[in-house]
Amino acid sequence: MSIDHLRGFDSLAVHAGQEFDPTTGAVIPPVHFSTTYAQDGIGGLRGGYEYGRSGNPTRTALEAQLAAIEGGAHAFSFASGLAAEDALLRAALQPGDEVLLGSDVYGGTYRLLSRILGPWGVRLRIVDMSDLDAVAAALAEHPSQIVWVETPSNPLLRITDIAGLVRLGHDVGALVVVDNTFASPALQRPLSLGADVVVHSTTKYIGGHSDVVGGALVLSDDALAEKVKFLQYAVGAVSGPLDAWLTTRGIKTLALRMQRHSENAQEIAEFLAGHDRVARVYYPGLPQHPGHDIARAQMSAFGGIVSVALADGAAARRFAESTRVFQLAESLGGVESLVNYPDAMTHASVRGTELAVPEEVVRLSVGIESAEDLLADLDAALAAL
Ligand SMILES: *Cc1c(COP(=O)(O)O)cnc(C)c1O
Repeated sequence: MSIDHLRGFDSLAVHAGQEFDPTTGAVIPPVHFSTTYAQDGIGGLRGGYEYGRSGNPTRTALEAQLAAIEGGAHAFSFASGLAAEDALLRAALQPGDEVLLGSDVYGGTYRLLSRILGPWGVRLRIVDMSDLDAVAAALAEHPSQIVWVETPSNPLLRITDIAGLVRLGHDVGALVVVDNTFASPALQRPLSLGADVVVHSTTKYIGGHSDVVGGALVLSDDALAEKVKFLQYAVGAVSGPLDAWLTTRGIKTLALRMQRHSENAQEIAEFLAGHDRVARVYYPGLPQHPGHDIARAQMSAFGGIVSVALADGAAARRFAESTRVFQLAESLGGVESLVNYPDAMTHASVRGTELAVPEEVVRLSVGIESAEDLLADLDAALAAL
C-alpha cells in the first residue's frame, strides 16, 4: 500500500514504513535478523543492504515511521536515547563549541555532556529555558552552537515556548534541539515549530511498554543528516532488529496511549492539587501551572507525567515507597504506572549540581490503568504519611 495520500498522525503511525511483505503478503513485515546480505556480483546489492550495522530493513521501517510521525525528512534509530544524543552531539560539534542546556534536562544528558564530551573540549552553560529573557541574555553574552531543551522538562514539567526559543537560537546561528521524549510526537511536533532536531528516548512513550531500550533522532537538514548517518554507521550504536520491531509495534498505538495517559494524569493532578498533604503539584494541564497557556498552544494534550512536592524529603520517600499500583521504579512512559524518587534514583547523578531536584519531589509516570484504581492508590499512600 502506498502511504502518499495519508495525512493523519494515526494513519502514519500505523502505516508509514509498514508496507506488507511483497513475497508472502504478510501484513506485518518480517523481522530481519540477518547480519549480512547476498550480493548479485561484487557490489550488486539488492535494496541497498550489505551489513547489519550499516543498514537493516526492520530498522529502515522504524526510521521511516519515526520520520513520518515527527514530520522530518530523516530519522535515525539508535540502541538508546543517550546513544542518539551522543551521535548528534559528535556530528554537530567540534572541540571548543558550546551547548546551552536547559536547567532540568534528563540527568544522563547532563552527565554525557559534562563528563564525556566535556573532556573532549565541548563547553556547557545551563539556563532555565522556560525563561526566554534568561536565554536571550545568555546568548547575547556569547553565542552557543547548540541550544538544547526538554519541554515538558524532567521532572519539574517546566514548559518552554519552542517557537520563541527557535527564534532566539536561530538569531545566533545555533542548532535548536528538542528532546521530545515526554510529549512524544502524538502531542507535540517541534520540527513544525521550527526546531532543527528532535531527540527521543524511544524507551519511554514511543516504545510504550517498558520492554525495549532505544533512541532516535529526527531532522530535516540533509547535510546534518549525512553526518549523523555516518556516525551511526561508523560508531555503530544502532538498534537491533527485535528492538526496532518492538518500537515499531509500540508506535502504532502511541496516539491512543498518549490520550489515556493524559486523561489519567489530568485527573490525578487535580486530585493531588486539592489534597492537604500535598505541597505542590507540577502538571502543565493545571490552569495554575506557569506554562499552561504555552503548553496548550504547542501541545494537543498535557502528557502522562505528574510531579508532586510533599512536606519534606522524608515524606516524599515514604510516599514513593507506599504506593502499590504505582510501582517504585526508574523510567517512565510505559502502560503501567510508576513512581520515582528523583533525588536518589533518576537524578542521583545531578545531586549537588545546578540540576539537582528538590528532595521533597516525587515523580509519577501515570499509566493507562483505570483512573479509579490509580486515585485510590495515591489516596491510600497519602493517608499513610
Ligand atoms: C530516558 C531519557 C533519556 C535517555 O534515554 P535512554 O533510552 O535511557 O538512553 C533522554 N531524555 C529523556 C527525557 C529521558 O527521559
